[in-house]
Amino acid sequence: MDSEEFRKWSQTAADWGADYRAGLRERPVRARTKPGDIARQIADAAPEAGEAMEAIFADFERIVPDGLTHWQHPRFFAYFPANAAPVSVIADYLVTAVAAQCMLWQTSPAATELETRTVDWLRRALDLPEGFAGVIQDSASTATLAAVLVMREKALSWKGNSEGLAAHKVVRVYASKQVHTSIDRAIWIAGIGEANLVRIPTKGPLNGMDPEALDAAIKADLAAGYIPAGVIACTGGTSIGACDPIRAVAEVAKAHGLYLHVDAAWAGSAMICPEFRTLWDGIEAADSIVFNPHKWLGANFDCSVQFIRNPEDQVRTLAIQPEYLKTHGHDGIVNYSEWSVPLGRRFRALKLWFLMRYHGLEGLRAMIRNHVKWSEELAGRLAAEPDFEIVSAPVLSLFSFRHKSGEDADAHNIALVNAINDDGRIYLTQTRVDGRIAIRFQAGQFEMTRDDADTAFTAITEIARRPT
Ligand SMILES: *Cc1c(COP(=O)(O)O)cnc(C)c1O
Repeated sequence: MDSEEFRKWSQTAADWGADYRAGLRERPVRARTKPGDIARQIADAAPEAGEAMEAIFADFERIVPDGLTHWQHPRFFAYFPANAAPVSVIADYLVTAVAAQCMLWQTSPAATELETRTVDWLRRALDLPEGFAGVIQDSASTATLAAVLVMREKALSWKGNSEGLAAHKVVRVYASKQVHTSIDRAIWIAGIGEANLVRIPTKGPLNGMDPEALDAAIKADLAAGYIPAGVIACTGGTSIGACDPIRAVAEVAKAHGLYLHVDAAWAGSAMICPEFRTLWDGIEAADSIVFNPHKWLGANFDCSVQFIRNPEDQVRTLAIQPEYLKTHGHDGIVNYSEWSVPLGRRFRALKLWFLMRYHGLEGLRAMIRNHVKWSEELAGRLAAEPDFEIVSAPVLSLFSFRHKSGEDADAHNIALVNAINDDGRIYLTQTRVDGRIAIRFQAGQFEMTRDDADTAFTAITEIARRPT
């Protein structure tokens, strides 16, 4: 492709993107596609001869958009958001055009140094102490895997990588049942085994881990000859927003010399607002914290920030330096690929830089505060309806509810979620709370307004009361 054609089609793509964003409210949020609908329209094999861009682009427009669930739709209230503020999309266009591999400082000094700076901007915005260094990982799952590998290596005196786990006593890690499934997977991949992820009971309105039960579990494991390695706490669990009491959990972890990783993938963004920081009170005692600017803050996926108290431990666990990756003659530089599981890295700091400069922290705080307020208002309105009940009270902008039904409430509420999503005005997902189905609502879309929360109320109540 010559540069004139590249320019023309880049502009066409940018125009398409702007029109797409502007028209999102007219589309159903969840794709109405049936399995196989898209695959049926795609050729069985790649063409031997190249095709014209006109034909390729026309097929994109004909086949793809209707097969998408629109994550940037202002009425996407399912899962957690994966916000891509327009300004971060612009930054990512540039990153895609440049297409640098940013694994080492010398493979793109600008990427490394901008990463150091923007991540430190975030550290300040979250009011974390100066001692924390940060790195951008592709996802919270990977950051958690890195943290689990570090806790494993520390507990095995740095011999797990070289000798394998079979040469050692069994390593144990502690978490509540409210943590995300990425924790289970990190435990599997680290070779620790699900059986050695010890589930600590939760209590209280925030469904947090019971620190006394944690202490007792660690002591029992020590007595049984296991090697306790670390604790994984959560701030804002995925199902109902559970928050572990970080201060008390950290005290127990420290008393036993255990590594503490905190998963705040979703809720971490809200910590740019001082009033929400009570949810992770004591966070400064953590060894590792992960949060995803690609969820609520507005940085285009992927962008997961891991703050680490002792990066040397992570580098000791993960760095591999064959001759071809050595950067001779450069002292005092950082090679971020030594802090993460993958070697290759995208230039992810640019979208953070654009995002924070364009909106300012005040702009981002205002967005988050609105989401929390509108979510609380909606929970209040549903609670006031006699045929609805709130199952889990709002934690930040997440709550869950149920439509009361005489017979099989689980089946009724699953059918309700499906009917709501088929309707298309809004998109919700379900969860299980104490064994029973509840419907989750989270407000978090970058371009959501209060009217969109009103639409949610109308759609939910109308569809729930429709005669079947
Ligand atoms: C979304 C989420 C994750 C997983 O995040 P990825 O970046 O997709 O790996 C982990 N933990 C919590 C609490 C989450 O909300």
